[in-house]
Amino acid sequence: MLRVASTLAVWFAMMSLVVAGAATAAEAADLKALIIEGQNNHRVWPKTSRMMKKYLEETGLFSVDIVRTAPKGTDPNFHPEFDAYDVVISNYNGAPWPKPTQEDFVRYVRDGGGFVVVHAANNAFGNWPEYNEMIGLGGWGGRNERHGPYVYFDDTGKLVRDTSPGRGGHHGPQHEFVITIRDENHPITRGMPRQWKHARDELYDSLRGPASNMHVLATAYSAKEKGGTGRHEPMMMTIRYGKGRVFHTPMGHADYSMECVGFIVTLQRGAEWAATGRVTVPIPPDFPTKDKVSIRKFVE
Ligand code: ZN
Repeated sequence: MLRVASTLAVWFAMMSLVVAGAATAAEAADLKALIIEGQNNHRVWPKTSRMMKKYLEETGLFSVDIVRTAPKGTDPNFHPEFDAYDVVISNYNGAPWPKPTQEDFVRYVRDGGGFVVVHAANNAFGNWPEYNEMIGLGGWGGRNERHGPYVYFDDTGKLVRDTSPGRGGHHGPQHEFVITIRDENHPITRGMPRQWKHARDELYDSLRGPASNMHVLATAYSAKEKGGTGRHEPMMMTIRYGKGRVFHTPMGHADYSMECVGFIVTLQRGAEWAATGRVTVPIPPDFPTKDKVSIRKFVE
């Protein structure tokens, strides 16, 4: 335990040197991120937004703003200046945004803006076609076969696009589950263990959507005995939307799910990639292994 602690201390010390070096070397390292919140069926959202803000700022790469909509209904005043940001992170699952805000957001991503979709944000806006294109796959929100196929890996490792009818979005009881990397050469996943254990979370299954220009980086096996599908469900996806880069993680149901070091690093790297197309955030020594989850207790 002591050895782990001192190894970590050394690593954090090294990281702060690296970060300090990077900051003096280039002002361009200062990326601007915007987290959107305000409505969510996940009541923990003010805290999960603060957690994600802290995780991004800890990299030394980002400054992060949080913008909050009105608590109910379409907020006529919700119109952030998306263009002021390198990446937008959605922690929002609520009423439609006003039309001009929707149009502005579509243009922002299409013209090269970064976008990160976290957990229930993929439940939002089932009837907004451009949003469904951006996120690749979604759940609930009235989604069904008209929205696109189910996408998963079979036991032989083959990607399946299943157009059979049925609703989109489901999960069994929360549990810890193993993430399997499907592309070890992508900047977001490079250097991660091929398999690592994620902290207690909802394992989303049966997501469906257009899934065009979508690349699955990682999956998790949705076991039938855990109320799942018996399929390998997408857990990290990238989507190209025009010139924009989108990173999508269905993980992150609760604060304890987000304390997983695997989630933290995935968010940091996914956001950096969405913002810049490259990743400099390293894999830390306390990253989970196949057999062991790794938690960083969140302190406000
Ligand atoms: Zn959830």
